[in-house]
Amino acid sequence: MFDTLSERLSGIFNQLRGKGRLTDADIDATARQIRMALLEADVALPVVKTFIDQVKQRCRGAEVSKALNPAQQVIKIVNEELIAILGGESRRLSLAKNPPTVIMLAGLQGAGKTTLAGKLALWLKGQGHEPLLVAADLQRPNAVEQLRVLGERAGVEVYAPEAGSGVGDPIQVSRDSLAHATRHARDIVIIDTAGRLGIDQEMMAQAAAIRDVTNPDEVLFVIDAMIGQDAVTTAEAFRDGVGITGVVLSKLDGDARGGAALSVRHVTGQPIMFASTGEKLTDFDVFHPDRMASRILGMGDVLTLIEQAETVFEEEQKERMTQKMLGGESFTLTDFLEQLLAVRKMGPIANILGMMPGMGQMKDQLADLDDKHLDKVTAIIRSMTQAERDDPRIIKGSRRLRIANGSGTTVNDVNQIITRFFDAQKMMKQMGGMMGMAGGRKATK
Ligand code: GDP
Repeated sequence: MFDTLSERLSGIFNQLRGKGRLTDADIDATARQIRMALLEADVALPVVKTFIDQVKQRCRGAEVSKALNPAQQVIKIVNEELIAILGGESRRLSLAKNPPTVIMLAGLQGAGKTTLAGKLALWLKGQGHEPLLVAADLQRPNAVEQLRVLGERAGVEVYAPEAGSGVGDPIQVSRDSLAHATRHARDIVIIDTAGRLGIDQEMMAQAAAIRDVTNPDEVLFVIDAMIGQDAVTTAEAFRDGVGITGVVLSKLDGDARGGAALSVRHVTGQPIMFASTGEKLTDFDVFHPDRMASRILGMGDVLTLIEQAETVFEEEQKERMTQKMLGGESFTLTDFLEQLLAVRKMGPIANILGMMPGMGQMKDQLADLDDKHLDKVTAIIRSMTQAERDDPRIIKGSRRLRIANGSGTTVNDVNQIITRFFDAQKMMKQMGGMMGMAGGRKATK
């Protein structure tokens, strides 16, 4: 599963290795290649389009990270977009307030419904539930028997029409099963419905009738991950014909290209809730979009590395700032600005900071830190030359006027910022001394 797609994607990312930065042309070329890879994997066209638009926009956008190189950035974005297309978070089954909870399974014949019914029952039993399996697939020869065998293996009761009672009516069986569940204290009813090889009116009408008499809490649409482009029409037919609340992907262990898995969430608008991965009853799991995305990318270790690089970078940045702050005089106007901007991002933390011992003055610094004021400070500092930012002592009369004009402020504003900066610098020095940092006194210019 996904082997070809994984290979194609790593080839594309490899081409980006060693690039210092990505041009628009690089991004376009990469997007085009990813698009081809997805289409070849049988992902539905509208899904591919949404995906590529999003990836392109984000690659172009302001997400320039200093921690990651361009190849890593693209991998990170593609990974996040894959997770999004697969549904983001996993969703849990919604259980009825008044048991029994009714779970109805729908899908084409051969999709893996009956097998799934057994798997789901075993899994729910493991969670402490008392499920009841209901054989409402009276179309396919042997479906009832197959369910009985599965039920026996899972240790779960199967409700089915009496042998020899004729064909039986799946709608009646479904209705009666609810009363049976209540009588026998079964808290979850799993109804296995009939499928056809293709979608047809009669089958949809029967599924809709079963839905109407059982009023299910969940209608799970079981789809064979191997069906490729047909996934879209099938999913749409079930979405419109029966209405579904969740999707189960079956046969994820096969060597399919993966298109159905990537399309079905987008097409149905419903989350993929479970994955069926083999013929054994235990080959079943809750579906996790993030795990699936990292499997598609086939680079779990690279993703971990990206995460670590980002964390380490953040920590280094903080460390560098602390050193500077405590270094007293080496604390420049550029740092001052960086610090003000960082504090603003912290929001209410600024208040807490003001309450800390020795930080009283900081509180005054922060008091008028509204957006307008900060814009002004930013403009003033950005209008200074590097030499002025490094050593504001050289900012005398004519320089002050030039800065005021350059930033659209007054000389008075500039004076205020410079005075405030000297105060902050003094405070940093004191704090450095207070904390016993030798660096606080060493840093002289
Ligand atoms: P139904 O017609 O929808 O009830 O489908 P079945 O449950 O009878 O499954 C059809 C075939 O697919 C059976 O041979 C199952 O053993 C097989 N099958 C079901 N789920 C899986 C799966 O997750 N992986 C594999 N490899 N085979 C499966």
